[in-house]
Amino acid sequence: MSRKNHRLFLIILIIAIICSVFAFTQLAVFHNQPGSDNATGTADVTHELLGNDSLGSVEVIRNVGNPNGEKIAYVVGVHPLENDTHATLLKLLPKQSNLNHCYDIYVINVSMNYSQYGQLLPDDQPGRAEGQDLALKYVYPQIVNGSYKLAVDIHGHGSAYPYDTFVFSPVDGGDGEKLGRNVSQSTQNISYYNPYQTTSGPYLTIPLNQNGVPAIYLEENSFFSQDVKDSHMLELIRGVDNLKL
Ligand SMILES: [Zn+2]
Repeated sequence: MSRKNHRLFLIILIIAIICSVFAFTQLAVFHNQPGSDNATGTADVTHELLGNDSLGSVEVIRNVGNPNGEKIAYVVGVHPLENDTHATLLKLLPKQSNLNHCYDIYVINVSMNYSQYGQLLPDDQPGRAEGQDLALKYVYPQIVNGSYKLAVDIHGHGSAYPYDTFVFSPVDGGDGEKLGRNVSQSTQNISYYNPYQTTSGPYLTIPLNQNGVPAIYLEENSFFSQDVKDSHMLELIRGVDNLKL
């Protein structure tokens, strides 16, 4: 290639790169438009920032599923080390079609550096207190005042319990326990097991149960393969969606 051709080639290459970056950012903007990430394209899915402070941020994805259905809240991110199960729900729930209920997904993003979490067990400490504080400050008021029929808080654990995959209400004897047991009975691999020891309960699920919104946990073994986590999460999503509320 001559020196002149070489320069021309470089110019064309630079223009091509600029064009593709522009196209990519336009695509990203389009993807973040309300409604564009719903599988059926009928519901008006919206993203809203609820809070942002030194501990982190909280957003909510509203109206996933049937906009005329009963309202159910999912919560992910209370314990940031358990982000594999959070990511699994966020990946699968918005993709489901023909859902009976209407889902809002509350997403807690603790601002501590995630890179340090990789070598730790899900039950180790970093970020837990921060996630719980963000849940109480930004998520609890929205759910307790939001006409929800159920809240589901998604967690993972490092083989810390006698059951791998289970749901439970931290408060016995109410609608939370009843709905949790219904989900367990309608699924193959999700047990009902109350470990009677949660660090996050007082920040979200216990006051919800005590103030009119049934609230349950999902606990999943973080050591399972992604395929198994996917199939268990789909069981949860379908089990919850089939509840008569
Ligand atoms: Zn947890």
